[in-house]
Amino acid sequence: MQSRVALVTGGTGGIGSSIIQRLAQTGHRVATNYRDEERARAWQEKMRAAGVEVTLAPGDVSSPEQAQALIEQIERDLGPIEVLVNNAGITRDSTFHRMTPMQWNEVIGTNLNSCFNVTRPVIEGMRERKWGRIVQISSINGLKGQYGQANYAAAKAGMHGFTISLARENARFGITVNTVSPGYVATDMVMSVPEEVRAKIVAEIPTGRLGTPNEIAYAVSFLVAEEAAWITGSNLDINGGHHMGW
Ligand code: NDP
Repeated sequence: MQSRVALVTGGTGGIGSSIIQRLAQTGHRVATNYRDEERARAWQEKMRAAGVEVTLAPGDVSSPEQAQALIEQIERDLGPIEVLVNNAGITRDSTFHRMTPMQWNEVIGTNLNSCFNVTRPVIEGMRERKWGRIVQISSINGLKGQYGQANYAAAKAGMHGFTISLARENARFGITVNTVSPGYVATDMVMSVPEEVRAKIVAEIPTGRLGTPNEIAYAVSFLVAEEAAWITGSNLDINGGHHMGW
């Protein structure tokens, strides 16, 4: 297999850490961004202890300038980015009638605008080299909606439109663009939901449990493989059967 340079945004988080580990284990040179240097260095040490070397660069992906600087630093350190996983994400939940402009804008900025901010500086290089893999980490709630998440569901649904347009524009350049839509996965994002709410969610999942970050990482590694060259514009649902069909 060929070793590629892979950037996973939000790589220090629950799902991101697993994606980083799996891509590194399959031979790729991996990088991620951070916002808090001290926390990121501690995380990098943990990864190193697990045998995974991760290149770090500072950057808030909701800022076009910081995203551009982040890409430049990683490309200086590792070479051109060939695999991009737009994974950084946040929630700012509220019913819509109480939602503030800040809650709306932060979620759209981090989950959706980030896809523009990070992908824009790498796409031209991928087109020139005629090879690229781009995966957006969307969400089950971008497909089915969720009470209290109009901002998050709008951003995650927007990722699909972004994906299928980019897939069309870049298919002839050897670039595939896909989304992965996880259901509820046991990371800090979900474990911070009150326990009784979580229990109700689990009761709705046919497999009877939350997903694991590894199960999402496995799907990403599948989509970025050399052999996945004819999978583009797809969405892969990974949710234990929580949401099926369209
Ligand atoms: P975590 O909260 O564990 O990790 C989120 C990561 O994103 C962190 O590394 C965080 O960095 C980073 N991040 C957040 N905001 C920014 C920003 N503005 N700029 C740069 N980095 C940022 O979340 P998960 O691992 O659970 O989620 C990962 C992705 O999967 C998200 O897009 C989420 O929406 C999606 N998802 C998650 C599900 C789940 O059940 N957990 C279900 C469906 C989708 P920092 O440490 O600096 O905050």
